[in-house]
Amino acid sequence: MGVDADVVVVGAGPVGLTAALLLARAGLGVVVLERRAGQVTESRATDLHARTLEALSPSGLVESLQGLGRRVDKVEMWSPGRRLGEVELGGLRSSYPYILTVPQCATEGLLASEAERAGVRVHRSAAVRSVTEHAEEVSVVSDALDPLRARWVVAADGASSTLRAVTGSAFPGRTYSGTWLLADLRVEDPSLDPSHVHMVGGPRGLLVVLPMHLDGWVRVVLHLPHGPASGSDSPDAIAAEAAARGWRATVRECRWTSTFRTHRRLAARPGRSRVLLAGDAAHVCSPIGGQGLNLGLRDAVSLATALPGATARGGPSAEGLRAWHRERRAEALRVLARTDLATRAWTLRSAPARAVRDAALRGVLASPAGRRVLAEAVAGPPQP
Ligand SMILES: Cc1cc2nc3c(=O)[nH]c(=O)nc-3n(C[C@H](O)[C@H](O)[C@H](O)COP(=O)(O)OP(=O)(O)OC[C@H]3O[C@@H](n4cnc5c(N)ncnc54)[C@H](O)[C@@H]3O)c2cc1C
Repeated sequence: MGVDADVVVVGAGPVGLTAALLLARAGLGVVVLERRAGQVTESRATDLHARTLEALSPSGLVESLQGLGRRVDKVEMWSPGRRLGEVELGGLRSSYPYILTVPQCATEGLLASEAERAGVRVHRSAAVRSVTEHAEEVSVVSDALDPLRARWVVAADGASSTLRAVTGSAFPGRTYSGTWLLADLRVEDPSLDPSHVHMVGGPRGLLVVLPMHLDGWVRVVLHLPHGPASGSDSPDAIAAEAAARGWRATVRECRWTSTFRTHRRLAARPGRSRVLLAGDAAHVCSPIGGQGLNLGLRDAVSLATALPGATARGGPSAEGLRAWHRERRAEALRVLARTDLATRAWTLRSAPARAVRDAALRGVLASPAGRRVLAEAVAGPPQP
């Protein structure tokens, strides 16, 4: 008896949609099951980095993404009132030597329409409850449809993945201390260049200000070492705290705020499973450097090369998939280690520790080789 689809992708976030689109273009029958009734409307993860754009380049998606976003080519680093230096991305050896900032809702909208054009069926209001693995197929039970039988399931159902839980894959790691506040603001007269990313590490905690895709809009991110106080998540309170940390502007409008905690976790993937974890379902990292979404998108691109071979007649190329697991795990470990180091450094509290960090950063940023290393870290690990 045949299956209902070669691949069922669980989750229509950016990772699931990218995997679905590329697998469909590779000739596989793909169904996406998504818990939400509609598409996301928030800007969420905005930064696409050079190595991700390179990975997406053969798909032709980059040109469309460029039309939805803005290029940012400098990251400036500060201690309060004092510039430590800048990381210039223009020198990267890449066709895309910059950060492309695109709201996640726009990225997902593009991916959803491209996926449907490629023949992917996206079912919304279709939360997946369980999967059962058999020798040659997986049965997927969701709220919306009769059980679906597929050769493979891509679990791209996010950080709180149901599939990771039902397949018994542990998610070891740690939760970082403190809380993060985020606000997308339309501002006038910002005190720091609005076309650059700014990272300011001071006694009150880290402040990051990033340009958004629209003129006059910025994202302000604050790390609150002791957690939020009552009312600290209002746009005015966020702007006042940013001012106390070294960035001032007149706030005209706020589109979105969010309060969240962050984690560093990596799934222990079952080696022989037909359920393949990708994106936040497989790994979560600190938001410093905006690497989480990028890592997930590269999981999806690389899976779209590995999986069609595995679904070919005659059964899976087990070695191809083992290589995919090894490659993705190795890259996730690198990204988690780098973002962990950056998080520890940028959230140091004691004055002597911050003084050592700032002196070290000034030294690194003063040398071309040091700036190149940091630019490469922003761009992401080179792809195999
Ligand atoms: C509120 C919020 C703010 C964020 N802000 C930032 C940020 O500023 N910077 C940054 O780098 N990252 C941010 N992130 C994280 C970033 O959005 C993720 O790294 C990225 O979205 C990962 O993509 P993904 O496709 O793996 O998972 P997700 O985008 O989480 O997508 C998973 C999808 O699976 C669906 N789903 C879940 N369970 C089921 C189920 N059982 N059945 C069917 N569907 C299911 C969900 O509805 C969702 O659509 C934020 C995330 C959230 C939630």
